[in-house]
Amino acid sequence: MSEMKDALVIGAGPAGASCALWLERLGFSCLLAEARGHAGGLLNDSPYRNDWIVTQPGVTGIDLSEGIGLSLAAAGVPMLLGARARKAERFGDGFRVTFDLPNDRVREIDAARLVIATGVQPRSGPFRASERVIIGPGHRAATYDYAGKSVAILGGGDNAFENHGFVKRAGAREVHIYARTVRASGVFAAQVPEADISTGPFEADHEDVRVNGRIYDVILVMFGWEPASFFETGFTLDRNPAGFFLTDFQTCETSAPGVFAIGEVTAGRHPCVVTAMSDGIAAAKAIQRQLERAALPG
Ligand SMILES: Cc1cc2nc3c(=O)[nH]c(=O)nc-3n(C[C@H](O)[C@H](O)[C@H](O)COP(=O)(O)OP(=O)(O)OC[C@H]3O[C@@H](n4cnc5c(N)ncnc54)[C@H](O)[C@@H]3O)c2cc1C
Repeated sequence: MSEMKDALVIGAGPAGASCALWLERLGFSCLLAEARGHAGGLLNDSPYRNDWIVTQPGVTGIDLSEGIGLSLAAAGVPMLLGARARKAERFGDGFRVTFDLPNDRVREIDAARLVIATGVQPRSGPFRASERVIIGPGHRAATYDYAGKSVAILGGGDNAFENHGFVKRAGAREVHIYARTVRASGVFAAQVPEADISTGPFEADHEDVRVNGRIYDVILVMFGWEPASFFETGFTLDRNPAGFFLTDFQTCETSAPGVFAIGEVTAGRHPCVVTAMSDGIAAAKAIQRQLERAALPG
């Protein structure tokens, strides 16, 4: 029988870490559980400079991820690392979540409030990762040796267009973007020469590393992101058609009372580090209000 925590936060990216830090500093008993061996979430996969955070110029995603680890340690936030949530269900007045741990171990954690902060994973479409096919932006796309190579990037969003520049600067001989439609922000789209963009339907084959009949050295699949929310829940959570959780704008509470969802796993505001962290704060303050109200006599 596990002790009932005030809150269990699943996922230690910027959203979950921010929520757990606030809950801890507000005096609640909280546990932050994370599938990886360390905090920081997707930031661990970004060696790029992140120039979008107004208080922290010149830092990389990895720097920010290390900062998250240091902040959690300084606040004394209890963590359960290497723990992948498999199932969440209602239990007593709260919730019970079952985690798979290394070496086939299983652990159940009970909490009055549940916060889902499991983020996203890159969409792969029909493609499989291989030596010459890279799915999504991140460590592998950033460290691949592009020198002298011909590269096809599939996708029409910001990541596809931003990576065109990264790959070119890394010495690629040619970089072509194939996009059914171009959705990238103007600032990124403007940086790619028109001759490098093919718009409209295309045929790509990951076995031959071929796009529209042309063989490339490497293909980058930049099809955006899907929610990492595949664990089973014994309650219904409303989602948008793409599977992202729908939440209340003020509190980040889902359609299931007592269950909050924050950061990129939600259909919230523009997904980034700062909005993920601010969701974490909104959820922590809403949990504070709920738990303090519940503790009032009568
Ligand atoms: C290459 C790259 C560059 C980027 N550049 C920028 C940038 O310049 N500026 C910017 O603002 N943003 C940038 N981002 C996006 C930024 O990293 C995300 O917006 C942010 O990390 C989202 O935070 P999150 O906490 O919602 O999710 P995540 O960071 O995805 O964290 C979710 C965490 O949940 C864990 N998890 C998932 N499922 C489970 C489970 N079942 N059980 C337990 N744990 C689970 C995951 O392991 C992960 O640690 C970049 C991302 C990448 C990959």
